[in-house]
Amino acid sequence: MLPHALIIRFRQQLLQWHASCPRPMPWKGLRDPYLIWLAEVILQQTRVTQGWPWFERFRKRFPTVQHLAAATEDEVLKLWEGLGYYTRARNLWRTARYVVEQLDGQFPRNYEGLLKLKGIGPYTAAAIASFAWRLPHAVVDGNVLRVLARFLADDTPIDSGPGKRHFTQLAQTLLDPQYPDSFNQAIMDLGATVCTPHNPQCHKCPLHSDCRATRQGIAPLLPVKRRKTKVRTRHLHYLIWTDGQHTLLQRRPSGDIWAALYDFPFVETSHPTTSGQQLLRQWLHAHQLAEPRSLPHPTLLWQGRQRLTHQLICGYYWWVLTHQLPPTLHNWQYVTIENLCKFALPKLTGNFYTYLLNFKDSLPTGKSNGIYNP
Ligand code: SF4
Repeated sequence: MLPHALIIRFRQQLLQWHASCPRPMPWKGLRDPYLIWLAEVILQQTRVTQGWPWFERFRKRFPTVQHLAAATEDEVLKLWEGLGYYTRARNLWRTARYVVEQLDGQFPRNYEGLLKLKGIGPYTAAAIASFAWRLPHAVVDGNVLRVLARFLADDTPIDSGPGKRHFTQLAQTLLDPQYPDSFNQAIMDLGATVCTPHNPQCHKCPLHSDCRATRQGIAPLLPVKRRKTKVRTRHLHYLIWTDGQHTLLQRRPSGDIWAALYDFPFVETSHPTTSGQQLLRQWLHAHQLAEPRSLPHPTLLWQGRQRLTHQLICGYYWWVLTHQLPPTLHNWQYVTIENLCKFALPKLTGNFYTYLLNFKDSLPTGKSNGIYNP
């Protein structure tokens, strides 16, 4: 149980500080649940400065939930391109359609109803409920967890189920029921700007006099995390089948990373490899395509890496120049290399595409390459 006087001081000090240190952001002060939801989804796993331009783009292109629901999934994914964690974009689009088709365009006006929508978890539901309707629900994100763990010198692991419930309860106890919107914004801003993960600026903090971690000199050690994220390394060898103008593109299936985005066909291996022809054989075999009499000699043009939450993706981009391209299969199509920019590509492939455009005059000419001619 937290002492009542401490709770009252926490609220007052936090709200006074927030009133004197405004942190301008385009979604602050909004009461429209659609725009609040949009901002919160964009800001999940994304820094404010990074997400800001995406929020502006989405708000301009889809000013209401009806506009978003009327778009195609491809349009939404294309506009989302570069922001990562594409499941967010797919859920955004699906939920917009659901709200328009099943709820007459109205978001539920309570926390429990919001939680039932796809892609809306406790954090987003609390944000919408408190910012749009001033309902007393505490938001608990990484910033809030850090402030609370330090303020109370609480070493309960924040990434365990009981830990999450424990800190959610604490946040709910401390929440000012009269000003839940300002309180939620204030505690998140404090975590983002003052009680930062490294080098917290305790001398600037409104909670300094009561902060137990500062008193004990353990602020940088908190919060405690139990699990270390296991990262799996994957080697994806992209085969850019091309006649110099067109290339084969596939829509990525569900059940793997970057579902529904567009990408080159690829072969996955357990280790890096230097044998381009072996990769071609593997790919042809996997798709039950006959091996041509003269197999092209792929050239490794570019390689790059992208770190995802649980995976490290090593991408190898092989240029497979040939005069006769393989047939298209389900989910595949041929597009001109210029038109690749119209498709929503994973970030790694987007980086490769930038390289390709910059160096297209020095690409292999193909004189020595074989012809795909089964
Ligand atoms: S005093 Fe320091 S450690 Fe405590 S809440 Fe403020 S910034 Fe964080």
